[in-house]
Amino acid sequence: MCRHLAYLGPPVLLRTLLSDPPYGLLRQSWAPRDMRGGGTINADGFGVAWYPDDGDPVRYRRAQPMWSDTTLPELAAVTRARAVLAAVRSATVGMPLHETAAAPFAEGRWLFSHNGVVRGWPDSLVPLAAGLPVRDLITLDVPTDSALLWALVRHRLRAGAPPDDAVADTVAAVAAAAPGSRLNLLLTDGTTVVASTAGHALSARRGPDSVLLASEPFDDDPAWQEVPDGRLVVATTGGFDVREPTAA
Ligand code: GLN
Repeated sequence: MCRHLAYLGPPVLLRTLLSDPPYGLLRQSWAPRDMRGGGTINADGFGVAWYPDDGDPVRYRRAQPMWSDTTLPELAAVTRARAVLAAVRSATVGMPLHETAAAPFAEGRWLFSHNGVVRGWPDSLVPLAAGLPVRDLITLDVPTDSALLWALVRHRLRAGAPPDDAVADTVAAVAAAAPGSRLNLLLTDGTTVVASTAGHALSARRGPDSVLLASEPFDDDPAWQEVPDGRLVVATTGGFDVREPTAA
């Protein structure tokens, strides 16, 4: 069930998030410690996105396992960023294997990732998709549940919703339309990260001026805190806030 992470804080090399930690995303691609809802490894692609000092985030995505990519180690050894979102993918049965299906999905400053599955997809989401402009649907990057979730979140952001409402509203609407779905979402603009827990694990770690959110702790630091299910997390470099979502 895919694994994802987001970091905000002082500039760090990508490798300190991906491959240096004993249970970083690289290791989670072949030996995750906490898989739920099917799947054993996360070998169906990966994506890493980071914010340069100026401008919109840069993405590097591939359809292959993270461990088999020979370019990532070189990039990760020299690229520093204050904000990073990365994911490794375990494709849901029947969904395409293509690099455009690997998170993060992106528009402008926004980056998005989904860890989970929409039950009854695609039929269960037809009523929600009907509320989107046709152009949004025909220009979806790839026909997966995660890409459609991104279209639903993005539609709310474009309409001016704050990111916490965009995530909470989408989770509530999809949970009602497709009960039993697993909807752990991550959304960032490089300054704030919003995450939901709905059917999947998430842990958070606060540093003196940094914050990390990850599907599973990447080391045994006791500072990691497990986020309960059914919550919305809003994180900045100042720390994180765990809320009961109120939007519907
Ligand atoms: N269902 C999504 C996909 O296939 C995400 C899968 C996951 O979390 N394992 O891309």
